[in-house]
Amino acid sequence: NEGIGSWPARRARKTPHRTALIHGEHTVDYGTLHARTTRLAHALRARGVRRGDRVAYLGPNHPSYLETLFAAGTLGAVFVPLNTRLAGPEIAYQLADSGAKALVHGPSHTGLVAGLPGSTDVRVHLETGAEYEAALAGASAEPVDEPVGPDDTCIIMYTSGTTGRPKGAMLTHGNLTWNAVNVLVDTDLVADERALVAAPLFHTAGLNMLTLPVLLKGGTCVLVEAFDPEATLEMIERHRITFMFGVPTMFDQMARHPRWPDADLSSLRILTCGGSPVPTPLIARYQERGLTFLQGYGMTEAAPGTLFLDAEHAVGKAGSAGVPHFFSDVRVVRPDLTPVDVGEVGEVVVRGPHVMPGYWGLPEETAASFADGWFRSGDAARVDEDGYVHIVDRLKDMIISGGENVYPAEIEDRLLAHPGIAECAVIGVPDDTWGEVPRAVVVPREGAALDPDEVLATLTGCLAKYKIPKSVVVADALPRTASGKLLKSRVRTRYGNP
Ligand code: AMP
Ligand code: MG
Repeated sequence: NEGIGSWPARRARKTPHRTALIHGEHTVDYGTLHARTTRLAHALRARGVRRGDRVAYLGPNHPSYLETLFAAGTLGAVFVPLNTRLAGPEIAYQLADSGAKALVHGPSHTGLVAGLPGSTDVRVHLETGAEYEAALAGASAEPVDEPVGPDDTCIIMYTSGTTGRPKGAMLTHGNLTWNAVNVLVDTDLVADERALVAAPLFHTAGLNMLTLPVLLKGGTCVLVEAFDPEATLEMIERHRITFMFGVPTMFDQMARHPRWPDADLSSLRILTCGGSPVPTPLIARYQERGLTFLQGYGMTEAAPGTLFLDAEHAVGKAGSAGVPHFFSDVRVVRPDLTPVDVGEVGEVVVRGPHVMPGYWGLPEETAASFADGWFRSGDAARVDEDGYVHIVDRLKDMIISGGENVYPAEIEDRLLAHPGIAECAVIGVPDDTWGEVPRAVVVPREGAALDPDEVLATLTGCLAKYKIPKSVVVADALPRTASGKLLKSRVRTRYGNP
Protein backbone atom coordinates (compact mmCIF):
# COMPACT_ATOMS: atom_id res chain seq x y z
CA ASN A 1 0.00 0.00 0.00
CA GLU A 2 1.54 3.27 -1.18
CA GLY A 3 -1.49 5.37 -0.33
CA ILE A 4 -2.03 7.60 2.66
CA GLY A 5 -3.81 4.72 4.39
CA SER A 6 -0.30 3.38 5.00
CA TRP A 7 0.90 6.49 6.86
CA PRO A 8 -0.08 5.32 10.37
CA ALA A 9 1.76 2.01 9.80
CA ARG A 10 4.85 3.78 8.47
CA ARG A 11 4.80 6.29 11.36
CA ALA A 12 4.24 3.47 13.88
CA ARG A 13 7.36 1.76 12.51
CA LYS A 14 9.45 4.89 13.11
CA THR A 15 7.85 6.74 16.02
CA PRO A 16 5.23 4.57 17.78
CA HIS A 17 5.37 6.52 21.04
CA ARG A 18 5.14 10.01 19.69
CA THR A 19 1.76 11.70 20.15
CA ALA A 20 -0.21 11.92 16.93
CA LEU A 21 -3.53 13.32 18.14
CA ILE A 22 -4.86 15.14 21.18
CA HIS A 23 -8.59 15.59 21.64
CA GLY A 24 -9.76 16.98 24.99
CA GLU A 25 -8.03 14.87 27.64
CA HIS A 26 -7.54 12.02 25.19
CA THR A 27 -4.16 11.33 23.56
CA VAL A 28 -3.42 8.94 20.68
CA ASP A 29 0.16 7.96 19.84
CA TYR A 30 1.20 6.73 16.39
CA GLY A 31 1.32 3.09 17.47
CA THR A 32 -2.25 3.34 18.76
CA LEU A 33 -3.40 5.23 15.67
CA HIS A 34 -2.03 2.41 13.52
CA ALA A 35 -3.65 -0.29 15.65
CA ARG A 36 -7.04 1.43 15.72
CA THR A 37 -6.96 2.20 12.00
CA THR A 38 -6.20 -1.45 11.22
CA ARG A 39 -9.06 -2.66 13.41
CA LEU A 40 -11.46 -0.15 11.87
CA ALA A 41 -10.45 -1.29 8.37
CA HIS A 42 -11.27 -4.90 9.35
CA ALA A 43 -14.54 -3.78 10.96
CA LEU A 44 -15.57 -1.96 7.77
CA ARG A 45 -14.52 -4.90 5.61
CA ALA A 46 -16.54 -7.29 7.79
CA ARG A 47 -19.56 -5.04 7.15
CA GLY A 48 -19.14 -5.34 3.40
CA VAL A 49 -16.93 -2.36 2.53
CA ARG A 50 -14.67 -3.18 -0.40
CA ARG A 51 -12.12 -1.48 -2.59
CA GLY A 52 -13.62 1.52 -4.41
CA ASP A 53 -16.66 1.75 -2.10
CA ARG A 54 -17.37 5.15 -0.58
CA VAL A 55 -17.18 5.65 3.17
CA ALA A 56 -18.67 8.93 4.40
CA TYR A 57 -17.92 10.74 7.65
CA LEU A 58 -20.15 13.27 9.38
CA GLY A 59 -19.02 14.87 12.60
CA PRO A 60 -16.86 17.53 14.19
CA ASN A 61 -13.05 17.29 14.36
CA HIS A 62 -12.32 14.06 16.24
CA PRO A 63 -9.71 11.26 16.09
CA SER A 64 -12.31 9.00 14.47
CA TYR A 65 -12.31 11.28 11.41
CA LEU A 66 -8.65 10.49 10.76
CA GLU A 67 -9.04 6.83 11.71
CA THR A 68 -11.86 6.51 9.15
CA LEU A 69 -9.85 8.32 6.47
CA PHE A 70 -6.82 6.06 7.00
CA ALA A 71 -8.94 2.89 7.38
CA ALA A 72 -10.75 3.62 4.09
CA GLY A 73 -7.37 4.27 2.47
CA THR A 74 -6.06 0.96 3.83
CA LEU A 75 -8.91 -0.87 2.07
CA GLY A 76 -8.66 1.14 -1.15
CA ALA A 77 -12.09 2.59 -0.33
CA VAL A 78 -12.88 6.27 -0.91
CA PHE A 79 -13.41 8.65 1.99
CA VAL A 80 -16.21 11.24 1.72
CA PRO A 81 -16.09 13.92 4.44
CA LEU A 82 -19.39 15.76 4.91
CA ASN A 83 -19.85 19.30 6.11
CA THR A 84 -21.42 19.24 9.59
CA ARG A 85 -23.29 22.48 8.96
CA LEU A 86 -25.32 21.12 6.07
CA ALA A 87 -29.03 20.48 6.47
CA GLY A 88 -30.57 17.00 6.09
CA PRO A 89 -31.46 17.29 2.38
CA GLU A 90 -27.95 18.57 1.55
CA ILE A 91 -26.35 15.65 3.40
CA ALA A 92 -28.75 13.27 1.64
CA TYR A 93 -27.71 14.72 -1.73
CA GLN A 94 -24.01 14.16 -1.09
CA LEU A 95 -24.56 10.65 0.27
CA ALA A 96 -26.68 9.73 -2.75
CA ASP A 97 -24.40 11.47 -5.25
CA SER A 98 -21.31 9.73 -3.91
CA GLY A 99 -23.22 6.46 -3.51
CA ALA A 100 -21.81 6.04 -0.01
CA LYS A 101 -22.05 2.50 1.33
CA ALA A 102 -20.97 3.32 4.88
CA LEU A 103 -21.35 6.34 7.14
CA VAL A 104 -19.42 7.01 10.32
CA HIS A 105 -21.05 9.82 12.26
CA GLY A 106 -20.81 11.63 15.56
CA PRO A 107 -23.56 11.30 18.21
CA SER A 108 -24.64 14.89 17.54
CA HIS A 109 -25.75 13.80 14.06
CA THR A 110 -27.64 10.64 14.98
CA GLY A 111 -31.02 12.37 14.70
CA LEU A 112 -30.20 13.81 11.29
CA VAL A 113 -28.92 10.46 10.04
CA ALA A 114 -32.06 8.66 11.28
CA GLY A 115 -34.20 11.10 9.29
CA LEU A 116 -32.37 10.62 5.97
CA PRO A 117 -34.59 9.57 3.05
CA GLY A 118 -34.51 5.98 1.81
CA SER A 119 -32.99 7.11 -1.49
CA THR A 120 -29.52 7.00 0.02
CA ASP A 121 -27.78 3.68 -0.30
CA VAL A 122 -25.94 3.77 3.01
CA ARG A 123 -26.01 0.25 4.45
CA VAL A 124 -23.44 0.53 7.22
CA HIS A 125 -23.89 3.06 10.03
CA LEU A 126 -21.38 3.48 12.80
CA GLU A 127 -21.88 6.02 15.56
CA THR A 128 -18.66 7.19 17.19
CA GLY A 129 -18.42 6.42 20.89
CA ALA A 130 -19.64 3.09 22.30
CA GLU A 131 -20.78 1.57 18.99
CA TYR A 132 -17.58 2.51 17.19
CA GLU A 133 -15.39 1.27 20.07
CA ALA A 134 -17.25 -2.05 20.16
CA ALA A 135 -16.72 -2.47 16.41
CA LEU A 136 -12.99 -1.89 16.88
CA ALA A 137 -12.74 -4.23 19.86
CA GLY A 138 -14.43 -6.98 17.87
CA ALA A 139 -12.18 -6.63 14.83
CA SER A 140 -8.90 -8.25 13.86
CA ALA A 141 -5.58 -6.46 14.41
CA GLU A 142 -3.84 -8.32 11.56
CA PRO A 143 -2.19 -6.11 8.92
CA VAL A 144 -4.42 -5.36 5.92
CA ASP A 145 -2.73 -6.18 2.65
CA GLU A 146 -4.55 -4.35 -0.11
CA PRO A 147 -2.66 -2.84 -3.05
CA VAL A 148 -3.32 0.89 -3.24
CA GLY A 149 -1.39 3.20 -5.55
CA PRO A 150 -0.95 6.94 -6.04
CA ASP A 151 -3.53 7.11 -8.84
CA ASP A 152 -6.31 5.51 -6.82
CA THR A 153 -8.99 7.86 -5.56
CA CYS A 154 -8.57 8.61 -1.86
CA ILE A 155 -11.21 11.25 -1.15
CA ILE A 156 -14.26 12.76 -2.73
CA MET A 157 -14.49 16.23 -1.29
CA TYR A 158 -17.47 18.37 -2.11
CA THR A 159 -16.57 21.92 -3.00
CA SER A 160 -18.08 24.41 -0.63
CA GLY A 161 -20.36 25.50 -3.45
CA THR A 162 -20.23 29.29 -3.59
CA THR A 163 -21.89 28.77 -6.98
CA GLY A 164 -24.29 26.06 -8.14
CA ARG A 165 -24.75 22.65 -6.57
CA PRO A 166 -21.78 21.03 -4.86
CA LYS A 167 -19.47 18.95 -7.02
CA GLY A 168 -17.37 16.10 -5.66
CA ALA A 169 -13.69 16.72 -6.37
CA MET A 170 -11.91 13.36 -6.61
CA LEU A 171 -8.50 13.55 -4.99
CA THR A 172 -6.10 10.68 -5.40
CA HIS A 173 -3.60 9.36 -2.85
CA GLY A 174 -0.94 10.94 -5.05
CA ASN A 175 -2.71 14.32 -5.03
CA LEU A 176 -2.80 14.40 -1.21
CA THR A 177 0.76 13.14 -0.88
CA TRP A 178 2.20 15.72 -3.29
CA ASN A 179 0.28 18.48 -1.54
CA ALA A 180 1.70 17.39 1.82
CA VAL A 181 5.19 17.30 0.30
CA ASN A 182 4.66 20.83 -1.05
CA VAL A 183 3.69 22.04 2.45
CA LEU A 184 6.76 20.37 3.98
CA VAL A 185 9.07 21.84 1.35
CA ASP A 186 7.66 25.35 1.57
CA THR A 187 7.24 25.80 5.33
CA ASP A 188 9.70 25.19 8.16
CA LEU A 189 7.51 22.44 9.58
CA VAL A 190 9.48 20.19 11.96
CA ALA A 191 8.85 16.84 13.66
CA ASP A 192 8.16 18.56 16.99
CA GLU A 193 5.31 20.63 15.61
CA ARG A 194 2.24 21.03 17.79
CA ALA A 195 -0.56 22.02 15.48
CA LEU A 196 -3.94 23.39 16.45
CA VAL A 197 -6.64 22.01 14.18
CA ALA A 198 -9.50 24.44 14.76
CA ALA A 199 -10.43 24.65 11.09
CA PRO A 200 -12.94 21.95 10.13
CA LEU A 201 -11.38 18.73 8.84
CA PHE A 202 -14.19 18.31 6.32
CA HIS A 203 -12.73 21.17 4.32
CA THR A 204 -9.58 20.80 2.32
CA ALA A 205 -7.41 23.35 4.13
CA GLY A 206 -7.80 21.99 7.68
CA LEU A 207 -7.00 18.51 6.44
CA ASN A 208 -4.40 19.13 3.77
CA MET A 209 -2.56 22.33 4.69
CA LEU A 210 -2.27 21.40 8.35
CA THR A 211 -3.21 17.95 9.62
CA LEU A 212 -1.83 15.59 6.96
CA PRO A 213 1.55 17.34 6.57
CA VAL A 214 2.00 17.32 10.38
CA LEU A 215 1.12 13.61 10.62
CA LEU A 216 3.45 12.79 7.71
CA LYS A 217 6.28 14.47 9.61
CA GLY A 218 5.40 12.84 12.94
CA GLY A 219 4.14 15.88 14.82
CA THR A 220 1.11 16.34 17.06
CA CYS A 221 -2.33 17.61 16.04
CA VAL A 222 -4.59 19.05 18.71
CA LEU A 223 -8.13 18.61 17.42
CA VAL A 224 -10.75 21.18 18.38
CA GLU A 225 -14.39 20.44 17.64
CA ALA A 226 -15.53 23.96 16.86
CA PHE A 227 -13.61 27.17 16.50
CA ASP A 228 -14.06 29.65 19.31
CA PRO A 229 -11.69 32.62 19.64
CA GLU A 230 -11.38 32.48 23.42
CA ALA A 231 -10.89 28.71 23.55
CA THR A 232 -8.34 28.97 20.75
CA LEU A 233 -6.27 31.56 22.60
CA GLU A 234 -6.41 29.35 25.69
CA MET A 235 -5.42 26.21 23.76
CA ILE A 236 -2.44 27.99 22.22
CA GLU A 237 -1.14 28.67 25.75
CA ARG A 238 -2.04 25.29 27.28
CA HIS A 239 -0.58 23.15 24.47
CA ARG A 240 2.22 25.54 23.52
CA ILE A 241 0.90 25.47 19.94
CA THR A 242 3.54 26.12 17.27
CA PHE A 243 1.50 25.88 14.07
CA MET A 244 -1.98 26.94 13.17
CA PHE A 245 -3.98 27.28 10.00
CA GLY A 246 -7.02 29.49 9.78
CA VAL A 247 -9.21 31.40 7.40
CA PRO A 248 -9.03 35.20 7.84
CA THR A 249 -12.29 35.43 9.84
CA MET A 250 -10.85 33.08 12.51
CA PHE A 251 -7.70 35.16 12.95
CA ASP A 252 -9.80 38.32 12.98
CA GLN A 253 -12.04 37.04 15.78
CA MET A 254 -8.98 36.09 17.85
CA ALA A 255 -7.43 39.53 17.44
CA ARG A 256 -10.66 41.23 18.52
CA HIS A 257 -11.19 39.12 21.60
CA PRO A 258 -10.74 40.91 24.97
CA ARG A 259 -8.15 38.26 25.94
CA TRP A 260 -5.97 38.98 22.91
CA PRO A 261 -3.68 41.61 24.52
CA ASP A 262 -2.79 39.27 27.42
CA ALA A 263 -2.70 35.97 25.56
CA ASP A 264 0.71 34.27 25.56
CA LEU A 265 1.40 33.63 21.89
CA SER A 266 5.14 33.10 22.29
CA SER A 267 5.03 29.45 21.22
CA LEU A 268 3.57 30.24 17.77
CA ARG A 269 6.01 29.81 14.88
CA ILE A 270 3.90 29.18 11.80
CA LEU A 271 0.57 30.83 11.06
CA THR A 272 -0.89 29.93 7.72
CA CYS A 273 -3.83 31.87 6.45
CA GLY A 274 -5.76 31.31 3.27
CA GLY A 275 -8.98 30.34 1.63
CA SER A 276 -10.05 33.89 0.95
CA PRO A 277 -8.27 37.23 0.64
CA VAL A 278 -6.42 38.24 3.79
CA PRO A 279 -7.40 41.84 4.66
CA THR A 280 -4.42 44.17 4.98
CA PRO A 281 -5.49 45.51 8.44
CA LEU A 282 -5.50 41.92 9.75
CA ILE A 283 -1.91 41.36 8.62
CA ALA A 284 -0.96 44.55 10.46
CA ARG A 285 -2.64 43.48 13.72
CA TYR A 286 -0.63 40.28 13.83
CA GLN A 287 2.57 42.03 12.89
CA GLU A 288 2.12 44.24 15.96
CA ARG A 289 2.42 41.01 17.96
CA GLY A 290 5.49 39.93 16.02
CA LEU A 291 3.50 37.33 14.09
CA THR A 292 3.67 36.84 10.36
CA PHE A 293 1.14 35.04 8.20
CA LEU A 294 2.27 32.65 5.57
CA GLN A 295 -0.39 33.03 2.97
CA GLY A 296 -1.85 30.33 0.84
CA TYR A 297 -4.04 30.36 -2.19
CA GLY A 298 -5.65 27.20 -3.36
CA MET A 299 -8.81 25.32 -4.14
CA THR A 300 -10.40 22.00 -3.25
CA GLU A 301 -9.68 20.68 -6.75
CA ALA A 302 -5.93 21.23 -6.26
CA ALA A 303 -5.74 19.45 -2.89
CA PRO A 304 -5.55 22.57 -2.30
CA GLY A 305 -2.09 24.27 -2.06
CA THR A 306 -1.33 26.17 -5.24
CA LEU A 307 0.34 29.50 -4.46
CA PHE A 308 2.27 30.20 -1.30
CA LEU A 309 3.84 33.33 0.17
CA ASP A 310 6.69 32.32 2.48
CA ALA A 311 7.91 34.04 5.64
CA GLU A 312 10.79 35.75 3.88
CA HIS A 313 8.44 37.61 1.53
CA ALA A 314 5.39 37.91 3.80
CA VAL A 315 6.01 41.60 4.49
CA GLY A 316 7.72 42.73 1.28
CA LYS A 317 5.09 41.08 -0.87
CA ALA A 318 2.09 41.59 1.44
CA GLY A 319 -1.12 41.41 -0.53
CA SER A 320 0.29 38.82 -2.91
CA ALA A 321 -0.61 35.13 -2.70
CA GLY A 322 2.99 34.33 -3.57
CA VAL A 323 4.50 31.97 -6.10
CA PRO A 324 3.57 28.37 -6.97
CA HIS A 325 4.30 25.61 -4.47
CA PHE A 326 7.43 23.60 -5.28
CA PHE A 327 5.61 20.88 -7.24
CA SER A 328 2.96 23.09 -8.83
CA ASP A 329 2.75 25.08 -12.04
CA VAL A 330 0.61 28.15 -12.20
CA ARG A 331 -0.08 30.56 -15.04
CA VAL A 332 -2.22 33.65 -15.32
CA VAL A 333 -3.72 33.61 -18.77
CA ARG A 334 -5.97 35.37 -21.24
CA PRO A 335 -9.11 33.59 -22.53
CA ASP A 336 -6.99 32.06 -25.34
CA LEU A 337 -4.60 30.63 -22.69
CA THR A 338 -1.66 32.88 -23.59
CA PRO A 339 0.09 34.26 -20.51
CA VAL A 340 -0.75 37.84 -19.51
CA ASP A 341 1.81 40.64 -19.43
CA VAL A 342 3.01 42.06 -16.13
CA GLY A 343 0.13 43.93 -14.49
CA GLU A 344 -2.56 42.61 -16.83
CA VAL A 345 -5.50 40.75 -15.24
CA GLY A 346 -6.12 37.16 -16.36
CA GLU A 347 -7.38 33.83 -15.05
CA VAL A 348 -5.31 31.61 -12.76
CA VAL A 349 -4.79 28.13 -14.19
CA VAL A 350 -2.92 25.33 -12.41
CA ARG A 351 -1.28 22.05 -13.32
CA GLY A 352 0.66 19.59 -11.22
CA PRO A 353 0.67 16.27 -9.39
CA HIS A 354 -1.67 17.74 -6.73
CA VAL A 355 -4.46 18.61 -9.17
CA MET A 356 -7.51 16.32 -9.20
CA PRO A 357 -8.27 14.07 -12.15
CA GLY A 358 -11.87 15.32 -12.20
CA TYR A 359 -15.28 15.64 -10.56
CA TRP A 360 -17.05 12.50 -9.45
CA GLY A 361 -19.63 11.42 -12.02
CA LEU A 362 -19.44 14.70 -13.95
CA PRO A 363 -17.38 14.14 -17.12
CA GLU A 364 -18.76 17.25 -18.84
CA GLU A 365 -18.07 19.59 -15.91
CA THR A 366 -14.62 18.00 -15.65
CA ALA A 367 -13.88 18.61 -19.33
CA ALA A 368 -15.12 22.20 -19.04
CA SER A 369 -12.92 22.94 -16.05
CA PHE A 370 -9.68 21.93 -17.77
CA ALA A 371 -8.06 23.58 -20.78
CA ASP A 372 -5.02 21.92 -22.35
CA GLY A 373 -4.41 20.02 -19.10
CA TRP A 374 -4.63 23.16 -16.97
CA PHE A 375 -7.33 23.44 -14.31
CA ARG A 376 -9.20 26.73 -14.63
CA SER A 377 -9.63 28.30 -11.21
CA GLY A 378 -12.17 30.94 -12.20
CA ASP A 379 -10.09 33.46 -10.23
CA ALA A 380 -8.78 36.71 -11.64
CA ALA A 381 -5.19 37.68 -10.87
CA ARG A 382 -2.23 39.70 -12.03
CA VAL A 383 1.47 38.93 -11.89
CA ASP A 384 4.07 41.47 -10.80
CA GLU A 385 7.56 41.99 -12.23
CA ASP A 386 9.02 39.40 -9.82
CA GLY A 387 6.50 36.72 -10.78
CA TYR A 388 4.39 37.08 -7.61
CA VAL A 389 0.73 36.47 -8.20
CA HIS A 390 -1.86 38.88 -6.81
CA ILE A 391 -5.36 37.42 -6.63
CA VAL A 392 -7.80 40.08 -7.71
CA ASP A 393 -11.19 38.41 -7.30
CA ARG A 394 -13.48 35.68 -8.57
CA LEU A 395 -13.96 36.31 -12.29
CA LYS A 396 -17.68 35.75 -11.80
CA ASP A 397 -17.88 38.52 -9.19
CA MET A 398 -16.37 41.13 -11.48
CA ILE A 399 -18.57 44.17 -12.08
CA ILE A 400 -18.45 46.04 -15.38
CA SER A 401 -19.35 49.67 -14.86
CA GLY A 402 -19.29 52.05 -17.82
CA GLY A 403 -16.92 49.68 -19.61
CA GLU A 404 -14.47 49.55 -16.68
CA ASN A 405 -13.77 46.28 -14.88
CA VAL A 406 -14.37 46.62 -11.17
CA TYR A 407 -13.12 43.93 -8.79
CA PRO A 408 -15.17 43.96 -5.58
CA ALA A 409 -12.34 42.55 -3.44
CA GLU A 410 -10.32 45.74 -3.84
CA ILE A 411 -13.21 47.87 -2.58
CA GLU A 412 -13.97 45.41 0.23
CA ASP A 413 -10.37 45.61 1.44
CA ARG A 414 -10.71 49.41 1.69
CA LEU A 415 -14.06 49.18 3.48
CA LEU A 416 -12.63 46.78 6.06
CA ALA A 417 -10.13 49.45 7.08
CA HIS A 418 -13.13 51.44 8.42
CA PRO A 419 -13.21 50.97 12.21
CA GLY A 420 -17.01 50.59 12.29
CA ILE A 421 -17.24 47.86 9.63
CA ALA A 422 -17.03 44.22 10.70
CA GLU A 423 -17.84 42.56 7.39
CA CYS A 424 -18.71 43.72 3.93
CA ALA A 425 -19.52 42.61 0.42
CA VAL A 426 -19.53 44.63 -2.76
CA ILE A 427 -21.87 43.56 -5.54
CA GLY A 428 -22.98 44.97 -8.87
CA VAL A 429 -26.51 46.31 -9.29
CA PRO A 430 -28.15 47.20 -12.62
CA ASP A 431 -27.89 50.85 -13.61
CA ASP A 432 -29.43 52.65 -16.60
CA THR A 433 -26.42 54.82 -17.29
CA TRP A 434 -23.45 52.57 -16.43
CA GLY A 435 -24.86 49.11 -17.00
CA GLU A 436 -23.82 48.11 -13.50
CA VAL A 437 -22.65 50.04 -10.47
CA PRO A 438 -21.06 48.78 -7.25
CA ARG A 439 -23.11 48.56 -4.07
CA ALA A 440 -21.61 47.96 -0.62
CA VAL A 441 -23.39 45.75 1.89
CA VAL A 442 -21.83 46.41 5.28
CA VAL A 443 -22.20 44.83 8.72
CA PRO A 444 -21.43 47.25 11.57
CA ARG A 445 -19.16 46.23 14.42
CA GLU A 446 -21.01 45.70 17.67
CA GLY A 447 -22.12 49.06 19.05
CA ALA A 448 -21.04 51.00 15.94
CA ALA A 449 -23.56 53.15 14.09
CA LEU A 450 -22.77 53.43 10.40
CA ASP A 451 -23.57 56.48 8.31
CA PRO A 452 -23.55 55.48 4.61
CA ASP A 453 -22.35 58.91 3.47
CA GLU A 454 -19.49 58.88 5.94
CA VAL A 455 -18.51 55.35 4.82
CA LEU A 456 -18.39 56.48 1.19
CA ALA A 457 -16.46 59.62 2.09
CA THR A 458 -13.63 57.47 3.47
CA LEU A 459 -13.21 55.90 0.02
CA THR A 460 -12.97 59.17 -1.87
CA GLY A 461 -9.47 59.79 -3.06
CA CYS A 462 -8.35 56.17 -2.35
CA LEU A 463 -10.25 54.61 -5.22
CA ALA A 464 -11.14 55.66 -8.74
CA LYS A 465 -14.55 57.28 -8.89
CA TYR A 466 -16.14 54.43 -10.87
CA LYS A 467 -15.12 51.98 -8.12
CA ILE A 468 -16.85 53.90 -5.35
CA PRO A 469 -20.16 52.25 -4.48
CA LYS A 470 -23.24 54.23 -5.49
CA SER A 471 -25.21 52.88 -2.53
CA VAL A 472 -24.59 51.36 0.90
CA VAL A 473 -26.86 48.85 2.60
CA VAL A 474 -26.42 48.12 6.30
CA ALA A 475 -27.04 44.44 7.15
CA ASP A 476 -26.95 42.31 10.32
CA ALA A 477 -24.80 39.53 8.89
CA LEU A 478 -23.54 38.16 5.58
CA PRO A 479 -24.16 34.65 4.26
CA ARG A 480 -21.00 32.53 4.48
CA THR A 481 -20.01 28.92 3.89
CA ALA A 482 -18.69 26.83 6.78
CA SER A 483 -15.17 27.68 5.63
CA GLY A 484 -15.88 31.36 6.05
CA LYS A 485 -16.18 32.16 2.37
CA LEU A 486 -18.67 34.82 1.44
CA LEU A 487 -21.64 33.49 -0.53
CA LYS A 488 -21.68 36.31 -3.08
CA SER A 489 -24.51 34.80 -5.10
CA ARG A 490 -26.76 34.95 -2.04
CA VAL A 491 -25.68 38.51 -1.25
CA ARG A 492 -26.62 39.41 -4.82
CA THR A 493 -30.05 37.76 -4.60
CA ARG A 494 -30.79 39.51 -1.34
CA TYR A 495 -29.34 42.95 -1.83
CA GLY A 496 -28.88 43.26 -5.58
CA ASN A 497 -32.19 44.85 -6.64
CA PRO A 498 -31.87 48.19 -8.39
P1 AMP B 1 -12.66 26.00 -2.43
O1 AMP B 1 -12.81 25.34 -3.76
O2 AMP B 1 -13.92 26.00 -1.65
O3 AMP B 1 -11.52 25.43 -1.69
O4 AMP B 1 -12.34 27.54 -2.68
C1 AMP B 1 -11.33 27.94 -3.56
C2 AMP B 1 -11.48 29.41 -3.85
O5 AMP B 1 -11.22 30.21 -2.68
C3 AMP B 1 -10.50 29.90 -4.87
O6 AMP B 1 -10.90 29.60 -6.19
C4 AMP B 1 -10.47 31.40 -4.56
O7 AMP B 1 -11.56 32.05 -5.16
C5 AMP B 1 -10.64 31.47 -3.05
N1 AMP B 1 -9.33 31.63 -2.39
C6 AMP B 1 -8.59 30.67 -1.82
N2 AMP B 1 -7.46 31.17 -1.29
C7 AMP B 1 -7.47 32.49 -1.53
C8 AMP B 1 -6.56 33.58 -1.26
N3 AMP B 1 -5.44 33.40 -0.58
N4 AMP B 1 -6.90 34.80 -1.71
C9 AMP B 1 -8.04 35.00 -2.39
N5 AMP B 1 -8.94 34.04 -2.67
C10 AMP B 1 -8.66 32.79 -2.25
MG1 MG C 1 -14.25 26.22 -5.78
